[in-house]
Amino acid sequence: MNLTARQKEIITIVQENEPISADLIAAQLDLSKSTLRSDLAVLTMIGVLEARPKVGYIYSGLNFDPLMGEELFGAKVEDLMSAPLIVKQDISIQDGVTNLFMYDSGTLYIVDKDEKLIGIASRKDILRFLINGTHTETTPIALVMTRMPNIIVVNPDTTVLTAARLLQRHEIDSLPVVENDESYRIIGKVSKTSILNHYIQNSPGGPKI
Ligand code: ADP
Repeated sequence: MNLTARQKEIITIVQENEPISADLIAAQLDLSKSTLRSDLAVLTMIGVLEARPKVGYIYSGLNFDPLMGEELFGAKVEDLMSAPLIVKQDISIQDGVTNLFMYDSGTLYIVDKDEKLIGIASRKDILRFLINGTHTETTPIALVMTRMPNIIVVNPDTTVLTAARLLQRHEIDSLPVVENDESYRIIGKVSKTSILNHYIQNSPGGPKI
């Protein structure tokens, strides 16, 4: 659920001044009490605020904070992206596999000589080749990769929710994060694992393990 800017302001006022009457909240916002009525009703209904007769509004200090939705879903990809495993297009499939093991990764991001993203090779792309293919030391990784323009990318300011939807819709494990310009220079990756970690980090009570 998305709260409006005014509702967030009301919550801050209550947190800092509780217990506080509707009149005083209205005065702080320079609004009339009737203007605030629906906001206060919403905040009370969802349990963020508690209205105590003759006392005023207090912040409920809920364990599940509805504001957290914004933290969880609205965070930017740049806040949780991890380091991508980047290789050149002419490395062999054998070197690609070695890299996957060495850096404990599942996806190779392949760039040209100008560091521009041109392909992605996943574990299954490589396994598919290995079933019938030979000459792994001389066959370039570029032979098995998914190529541009078929690569789904995100920008640093893409939200976590959008990234998660793309991963789900395209049934892929990760997305390269590229510069906002047209250079297709990779600056990170966002994967199912990084999104899971983000949710655990930001869950009520923080990480437990
Ligand atoms: P795996 O194949 O190991 O299960 P993925 O699910 O990530 O790993 O990849 C599935 C297929 O999608 C592979 O062919 C891979 O090259 C391709 N792929 C992976 N990531 C992307 C992406 N961001 N955009 C387009 N295709 C991708």
